[in-house]
Amino acid sequence: MTTTADSRRATKVAQSLTLDNLEKTYSSRGRATFHAVKGIDLHIEPGELVALLGPSGCGKTTTLRMIAGLETVSSGEILIGDRKISQLAPGKRGVGVGFESYALYPPLSVRDNLSYGLKARKVAGADELVATIARRLEMEDLLDLRPAGLSSGQKQRVALARALVRNPPVLLLDEPLSHLDASARQRVRRELKMLQREFGYTTIVVTHDQVEALSLADRLAVMDGGIIQQYGTPDEVFDDPANIFVAEFVGEPQINMFDGIVRLENGSAVVSVGSAGNLPVSTRNVVEGQSVRVGVRPQDMTMVPGPAGHRQIAVHVKHFEHLMEFGLVQVNTAEAESTGSGSKLMVQTPAHERFAAGDECAATAPPERVYLFDPETGNRLR
Ligand code: ATP
Repeated sequence: MTTTADSRRATKVAQSLTLDNLEKTYSSRGRATFHAVKGIDLHIEPGELVALLGPSGCGKTTTLRMIAGLETVSSGEILIGDRKISQLAPGKRGVGVGFESYALYPPLSVRDNLSYGLKARKVAGADELVATIARRLEMEDLLDLRPAGLSSGQKQRVALARALVRNPPVLLLDEPLSHLDASARQRVRRELKMLQREFGYTTIVVTHDQVEALSLADRLAVMDGGIIQQYGTPDEVFDDPANIFVAEFVGEPQINMFDGIVRLENGSAVVSVGSAGNLPVSTRNVVEGQSVRVGVRPQDMTMVPGPAGHRQIAVHVKHFEHLMEFGLVQVNTAEAESTGSGSKLMVQTPAHERFAAGDECAATAPPERVYLFDPETGNRLR
């Protein structure tokens, strides 16, 4: 059966969103106080979902508020399709926002809060659309309540539903699931992703939760210090980090990061890790004796009992956790063991393997999964 909601979807035309060298400097009494966003370039394809991921204070919300028109732009431009919107009033931009702080009308029920705007615009099938979205976000039981009685998690779902029912060409969501409990969060996250696909909103989700970002996003923009550090698919960002910040910020358990020295052996490079041994690398643009930071994900390391051989490092097991689907082993390199100054690493091991504190093992990783970084700039060496 084709519902009104279905036909609304079919007629919707998704639009691209482009940020062109967008900057924001906050000021007070005419004096610049904080350079929060430092020239962001981002192109989001029609219907794509992009997650802005980064630590607290990196400029995510400021970026979203500039797109929504809730914050002025210091310089640069925002385009929906080829329409410049940075100087338009918020209501004229064609942008739907799901900010938690967005006020609901206290005297109206949740249902009326959701349908109010649609009915004011005489949108056909408003009640049906509200019912569909409420069912999908598991909030039908909230429809007859008033906002004052809602918990923070419930308010958050209402804010999300309100943004979705408007069916905007561009949808902006700031930490849309942060107040939901763990299981509701997973379910609503899946529904949100499916609704976004079906309705075709071009969407930005701001989050500092990497699981949320990785599971929702077609592409991730990883931000730090007001700058996009890397923009790519979740696989690209995880498998091919551009710098130390991205490598450390994305990935759970966190990537191992330690010092190394490049050695050339018969023309191919290895990286020596103190007196623990060498790891193979596939990096080409390095020279003999070069100091580097080495990044290896725990998931990419393999470890076997016994002394270290060719292109392996000697490690000493400090702690083993059996986590059912896999094991997590904390190891020290031989040097850390003897001097306390070497590297402490995490290795993720297969479910059936067991290790014990005190075991002497040999660890390694495939060369293409041993990332080298410039210790000064933090940039990836390739
Ligand atoms: P969070 O995840 O904590 O919300 P965020 O990445 O969204 O962080 P923003 O809220 O965009 O970060 O803030 C970026 C920086 O700008 C922060 O250092 C913040 O203190 C600063 N900032 C935000 N609003 C103002 C303001 N009105 N005046 C001055 N500085 C501000």
